[in-house]
Amino acid sequence: MTDIRSLTLGELETECRELGEKPFRARQVYEWLHKKQVLAYDEMTNIPKNLREKLEKKFELVPLTLADVRISQIDGTRKYLLGLEDGNVIESVWMQYHHGNSVCVSSQVGCRMGCRFCASTLDGLERNLSTAEILGQVYRIGQDTGERVSHIVIMGSGEPLDNYDNVVRFIRMVSDENGLNISQRNITLSTCGIVPGILRLADEGLAVTLALSLHAPNDEVRRTLMPVANRYSLEEILAACRIYFQKTGRRLTFEYSLVQGVNDNLSEAKELVSLVGTMHGHVNLIPVNPIRERDYRQSGKKEIREFQNYLENHGIAVTIRREMGRDINGACGQLRRSYQSSLQSAQVS
Ligand code: SAH
Repeated sequence: MTDIRSLTLGELETECRELGEKPFRARQVYEWLHKKQVLAYDEMTNIPKNLREKLEKKFELVPLTLADVRISQIDGTRKYLLGLEDGNVIESVWMQYHHGNSVCVSSQVGCRMGCRFCASTLDGLERNLSTAEILGQVYRIGQDTGERVSHIVIMGSGEPLDNYDNVVRFIRMVSDENGLNISQRNITLSTCGIVPGILRLADEGLAVTLALSLHAPNDEVRRTLMPVANRYSLEEILAACRIYFQKTGRRLTFEYSLVQGVNDNLSEAKELVSLVGTMHGHVNLIPVNPIRERDYRQSGKKEIREFQNYLENHGIAVTIRREMGRDINGACGQLRRSYQSSLQSAQVS
């Protein structure tokens, strides 16, 4: 059954009309769901009981459950494990910055992109998340912290452009003034570089920031880290990114996870300068967060600084991602995996 929180206001109006109700009821229901974020139909106190019952017959309303939360002693970052109706669990993260509060949402259970350094993809893709399940992460965390969410990064587990329709619907709904009303300019979508998805997104009329997981300055190195590089060349991907910038006016972010001895040499910094030097965007350096299953190591502090300096000296804007929540299994998919394996060992014993 579809969760009622996956319906846009327009769709809810159509439903209400078909049920013989006035359109203003749809707006009221929408506000209960997306502004007040009720957890059950019977909390919608100004909606007639018979309408609530009719809607409930057709659409479920299943809030995510809190399976676990870990709070970083270092920076207050909170990592949530949230439970879905079918028993799956997903990860979402809450981060506080000086510019506001950010939630990092997952878009899929697992992932099929196979990036070598990423824990989310080790068991492949389980399934796509519905729009309600992506929204539910933001709502659940907002409730738990009691604070306003101002920014969203679609950078949790999963490849958002591999779950295109539900993710775009999520962006529209979370930025809807009848719901949480988060500015699209405060939303970042991160992709490993699915070219048709980037081109389609450029035509949606949205104002979200696109972050490209680059991680290498050429296809050869990129293919050793990211299987998707066999499907799309950097030339095609960057051409799509240029179009995205032209159509949306949003400056791009290039994510570059530094892996010792793999992509952190100054010769790679040099190649990176010629690759993105003329693009409208900045490079976000991420010291790779090592996962147990692979033997990739983080570049040394000195190498990171030299890499950064080289880029900056050649006119590239650089930020270094602060390692939020390093003490709480901060890397994508790590917490979910440790939860799953603890469940498995509990079943065995
Ligand atoms: N599928 C999307 C979102 C993934 S996660 C994408 O590929 O962009 C967001 C970012 O974290 C991506 O740039 C991803 O490559 C990176 N990432 C994943 N695991 C990491 C790790 N262990 N260390 C550093 N960066 C990692």
